[in-house]
Amino acid sequence: MDFSVLYIGSGQGTWNGAVPLAKTGVKIGVIEESQYGGVCSNKGCNAKIILDKPIEMVEKIRAMQGRGLDGVPTINWEDLMAHKHELIVPQDQHGKDRLVNAGITTITGHAEFVDAHTVSVDGKQYTADKIVIATGLRPHRLDIPGAALFDNSTDFLSLPHMPKHVTILGGGFVAIEFATIANAVGAQVDVITRGSQLLKQFPAKYVAEVKADLASRGVRFIPDMSVSAAEKTADGQITLHGPRDFQLTTDYVLDATGRIPNHDQLNLEAAGVAYTNRGITVNEYLQTSVDNIYAAGDAIDKTIPKLTPTAAFESRYLTALFKGSTDQPIQYPAISEIVFTSPRIAQVGVRIADAEADPDRYDMTEVSYDGDWFRQVENEQGAKLTMIFDKQSGLLVGAAELSHEADNMINAIVPYIQMGLSKEQLNDLIYTFPSLEYTFQRRLPLV
Ligand SMILES: Cc1cc2nc3c(=O)[nH]c(=O)nc-3n(C[C@H](O)[C@H](O)[C@H](O)COP(=O)(O)OP(=O)(O)OC[C@H]3O[C@@H](n4cnc5c(N)ncnc54)[C@H](O)[C@@H]3O)c2cc1C
Repeated sequence: MDFSVLYIGSGQGTWNGAVPLAKTGVKIGVIEESQYGGVCSNKGCNAKIILDKPIEMVEKIRAMQGRGLDGVPTINWEDLMAHKHELIVPQDQHGKDRLVNAGITTITGHAEFVDAHTVSVDGKQYTADKIVIATGLRPHRLDIPGAALFDNSTDFLSLPHMPKHVTILGGGFVAIEFATIANAVGAQVDVITRGSQLLKQFPAKYVAEVKADLASRGVRFIPDMSVSAAEKTADGQITLHGPRDFQLTTDYVLDATGRIPNHDQLNLEAAGVAYTNRGITVNEYLQTSVDNIYAAGDAIDKTIPKLTPTAAFESRYLTALFKGSTDQPIQYPAISEIVFTSPRIAQVGVRIADAEADPDRYDMTEVSYDGDWFRQVENEQGAKLTMIFDKQSGLLVGAAELSHEADNMINAIVPYIQMGLSKEQLNDLIYTFPSLEYTFQRRLPLV
């Protein structure tokens, strides 16, 4: 065999586990057809957060007008894009170096199965004892006339100039985060959704607040509309058509209607690997229907969120399994999630909707930070936190926050939930003061 373990894809679902595994002397190959490091490093989370950061800064400055700060800066998209390129362009090479420096053989090209132990890359065959499919997702493209006029998330993240009128199709996290960015940079933004619900995985009450806030900043939401065709106008704009004589002319359309698995291009039938249209089918050891083939990351058909930290966790789990340091099924810890709107919504552990559905099991408390002096230092209004307690054990098992600090605050809560700390134990922690964490601790219904 050429390799002990051969990974297809080089994203978070691969390198987090492959690099430490290679360092133990295991012979590893990684096949990548596009950019090393995968979507997150090159055309996902990292690029997005660079474009989002100034928005957070401007919002904080805006809140302090007349309280010691005068003047709200504007965002220069072209300069911001240059900053993004400077940080993101090297990621591909960094991603490759990380593998090579760990002693991993990198193979650039498109991988397809020949059989359960053999993969072909541009005509050359490679064999391996174990194969890990970590091929991720790609943007879904609407199948309607004129869809070729639309950009996808990768294109948006490299837009040289922000168009005057941006229309976004979709209501998921990519759609709403990019609507937030385009609006903050000065574009007129329309968001068209097939149904009426946005950000389905986040608490409806906080999503409603984010939506109302975006609407107050001029974002127009067009629900219950399935765009059926698009055409270019004589002056280079795009006209969208839909039922009930819907028509909208815009400068730019972002198709953010979802992400689909790449496994349709892997010739899985040759190896006999089972899959659905949501991803590769795996058991609780991340093993596919073929004994020596595993899957990790977004490529899996799973109900847990398809995110960078879950992909990285799965990759590390597979390394532990391959090394023999575990023979246990994968056990996911409390998972935290965020949507980078302004303010942000973040959550961890048991979700509000699940707690509402099971009132015999869970208690919920919402605290508003409006009266909190420390939160008032930055004059943030409307920040709130919901805490979910298990009635029987009394332990904090879930939390969701709406605020500009939601990402930091939820991260601070992760260990409480994961380690199952009691209220008494939480009371015993000494945080720096003044700080967000200290404020949170004082908000807990303590003994
Ligand atoms: C715009 C955007 C923003 C995001 N923001 C966040 C965020 O803020 N936080 C967060 O946690 N997650 C975010 N995500 C999701 C995150 O990027 C993914 O969950 C993560 O990248 C999954 O890692 P992965 O290794 O499973 O797949 P990927 O990163 O998709 O890597 C798969 C790799 O496999 C390669 N590949 C596919 N098929 C083949 C083949 N046949 N042969 C060879 N190579 C192949 C691809 O080229 C790709 O490089 C975002 C995603 C997008 C698109």
